[in-house]
Amino acid sequence: MVMRSVAGARTGEDVEDLRAWLGQLDGAPEVHETVVLHCPAHGEDPPIWAYVEADAGAGLARRRCLACGTAVHLLDSEARWNHPPMWACAGCGHSIAELAAGLSVPDGEHVEWVALAARCVECGRLAGLTDVVVDRTPLAEVLSGL
Ligand SMILES: [Zn+2]
Ligand SMILES: [Zn+2]
Repeated sequence: MVMRSVAGARTGEDVEDLRAWLGQLDGAPEVHETVVLHCPAHGEDPPIWAYVEADAGAGLARRRCLACGTAVHLLDSEARWNHPPMWACAGCGHSIAELAAGLSVPDGEHVEWVALAARCVECGRLAGLTDVVVDRTPLAEVLSGL
């Protein structure tokens, strides 16, 4: 794990650093599971580079696979969609990201909180995108909605 701090921002070398960062967020619920979000439209070794639109306050996000354009909404975002702008890295302005979700699963079976974060593939900067409180939803159900 290589975590550096560049001008106060955290950067990571790969998506594993992003997962590690999600697991140690200050002031957030404890994260028990982290998941790298990939495109579901591929077979083995699916790509993870994506564009993402997210509304931090509303708990909405949608990612679009860079390779094939398939869009995936985070959990119930589609029903509440409000057309937030595309994410761009605050460090370098690029919009291609690797994404991961952190889940708070206090009892190991039911999810209470989901956080979505990005790693800029250009400069490595890590950024939180949005987070959602979920009402003790079964882990498998949440995983299928990421
Ligand atoms: Zn794809
Ligand atoms: Zn960047």
